[in-house]
Amino acid sequence: MSPLPNLESELRRKIKGDILFDDVARYLYSTDASLYQIQPVGVVIPRDKDDVIQAMRTAAKYGVAILPRGGGTSLAGQTVGHALVIDCSKYMTALLEVNAQERWVRVEPGIVRDELNRKIKATGLHFTPDVATSSRAAVGGMIANNSAGTHSIVYGKTVDQVISLRALLADGEEVEFRELTPEEYENKCAQKNLEGKIYRETRRLVQQHAEEIRARFPKVMRRAGGYSFDLLLAQKNWNLAHLITGSEGTLAFITEAKVRIEPLPKATGILLAHFHDIFDALRAVAPILPHRPAAVELLDSPILRMAQQNLELRRHCTFVEGDPAAVLLIEFFDETPEAAAERVIRLDEEIRQKHHAYTCTRALSAAEQANVWYVRKAGLGLLMGMKGERKPVEFIEDAAVPVAVMPQYLREVADLIGSFNREMTMYAHVSVGLAHVRTMLNLRDADDVKLMRRISEGTLDLVLKYGGMMSGEHGDGLVRSYLNPKFFGPQLYQAFRELKAAFDPQGIMNPGKIVDAQGMEENLRIGPHYRTRHVHTHFQYRARWKCAPAWVNAANSPAAPCAPHTWQRATKNIPRVAAPTPCARRLPVRLRPNISPPNGFMKFLISAWPVRAANPSALPTWMLPN
Ligand SMILES: Cc1cc2nc3c(=O)[nH]c(=O)nc-3n(C[C@H](O)[C@H](O)[C@H](O)COP(=O)(O)OP(=O)(O)OC[C@H]3O[C@@H](n4cnc5c(N)ncnc54)[C@H](O)[C@@H]3O)c2cc1C
Ligand code: SF4
Repeated sequence: MSPLPNLESELRRKIKGDILFDDVARYLYSTDASLYQIQPVGVVIPRDKDDVIQAMRTAAKYGVAILPRGGGTSLAGQTVGHALVIDCSKYMTALLEVNAQERWVRVEPGIVRDELNRKIKATGLHFTPDVATSSRAAVGGMIANNSAGTHSIVYGKTVDQVISLRALLADGEEVEFRELTPEEYENKCAQKNLEGKIYRETRRLVQQHAEEIRARFPKVMRRAGGYSFDLLLAQKNWNLAHLITGSEGTLAFITEAKVRIEPLPKATGILLAHFHDIFDALRAVAPILPHRPAAVELLDSPILRMAQQNLELRRHCTFVEGDPAAVLLIEFFDETPEAAAERVIRLDEEIRQKHHAYTCTRALSAAEQANVWYVRKAGLGLLMGMKGERKPVEFIEDAAVPVAVMPQYLREVADLIGSFNREMTMYAHVSVGLAHVRTMLNLRDADDVKLMRRISEGTLDLVLKYGGMMSGEHGDGLVRSYLNPKFFGPQLYQAFRELKAAFDPQGIMNPGKIVDAQGMEENLRIGPHYRTRHVHTHFQYRARWKCAPAWVNAANSPAAPCAPHTWQRATKNIPRVAAPTPCARRLPVRLRPNISPPNGFMKFLISAWPVRAANPSALPTWMLPN
């Protein structure tokens, strides 16, 4: 039953899009790809901007928070909350305008990154941030997270591509955030409405705390945490679109984005340097950078071994020789295949002679390169498929430090985790100092939950020591926001809170993220109270906790989106959400992409699911055990 029947009925009267307040929908929308689960109040799937305005105003009237949602692939929990979810990924997906000459596009927030690029392929241009989830991440979500990809050393982060944003403020007022001359900024400040207050307060806060901003914001190539005061301070003409970027839906609701598009690379070549020692690999990164690679990625031995043992991936591992502790994947862009190959060969010789690589392989043809990227992109899916009670848990997985100190930083992280008798695994965007370190923990064990916090706080100290950032691309969400007071210090943290209050006086925009956050152990999807419910079935299937709710299928094809994702996108009948959506590949049911689920079908699938969540209040009543 709907927890707020009046809100629901008012929304039904006012909104053209879909309204989902049933138990199944709220359960499905209670997760993203993070560790967390919180049941939302309800879900609105808006047809257009007017629907979003109505939803926001109606929610505000009932004192209900709102939570914007794109693909729901966030890893830090910023896309879950006790709020009215507004999901742009079904209808608000239009490519509104393409200007190839000036190299920009205008899009609605729900358009998926790869779909956008498919649509503009003929122009020879593309939207560059290449997140590993590019087949399901929406541009709005990428902007709100300030996402970045493997080629960020060339293209930067999403914020570097944002020209302007149209957005709804907390009162439902529509505004445009773009670069303003000092005179235009002054005119904005003179306005008597919420927008005017935002411009005045932003200027006051950035100017008042300029010294602290310079001192506290780390000088790293990747930063996704906190509010981006540092970017404004560095700009001659302020662009508040860059403050909205990375704000995780806590300041404004993006309804339209104008973003840059760049030429596709003409030719590429990849060198794969193999090392017996992972720290030799890390030490080799700084000397590689003057060769101007387009990407340098690190794959460690657990991932490579799992890839070689995986039936599907084995045949793509043609580039691996021997049993490396780590492989550096170094890619070059150039004008012709010959020029790219020449750069690969030049670095090959240097890296063997000077940097302790025991061998190097080359991927110069399109097919060889496709193999390399297929295995690289399968990284997380592979990790999540690891057998055993302990899983590679994400909470310190996104720290970024200056490239030069990466070996020392990671040595100390490994020692910290080792001191608790736990193991770690990682893959890394080493070209920009970002290591996705995952700690092997069993969050169904209360002691491991305590350990998670100790390791998180210990890592924060190391990140501060090495001048890094706790989040390089995945954001603060529920898992890292609690660290912001210590990371940014009391003065800047208070400034963040004042900024939030200026934008969102009622505190209804995705509250509890970036500022005023919960402890990281609260609302865990799989925690000490998690129990497996045994259901007798004809076929066996694995429990959900063995898989990342990440739309990557760990079991079968780790680099590909899951079957349910593909199916849901094809039918458009049910919301596209991450786990606990039932998995076609793991249920004794075969789903065909062109069928619509009959009434109760989803309910059947979910009730067949053999688990219940850590947080029983997050479950529909019909799923609770007797
Ligand atoms: C397997 C895996 C690999 C990943 N790899 C990468 C990677 O390589 N690089 C990287 O940066 N990230 C990565 N991520 C994290 C995630 O995929 C990215 O952050 C992605 O860009 C999020 O997009 P989304 O559409 O799923 O956003 P969502 O999760 O739907 O939303 C993200 C945030 O944006 C807000 N939001 C969404 N829409 C709007 C809107 N219209 N207005 C205002 N706020 C909005 C939400 O409230 C939320 O706070 C990975 C995640 C997984 C599971
Ligand atoms: S296999 Fe299933 S549980 Fe795993 S990510 Fe895919 S849909 Fe989610």
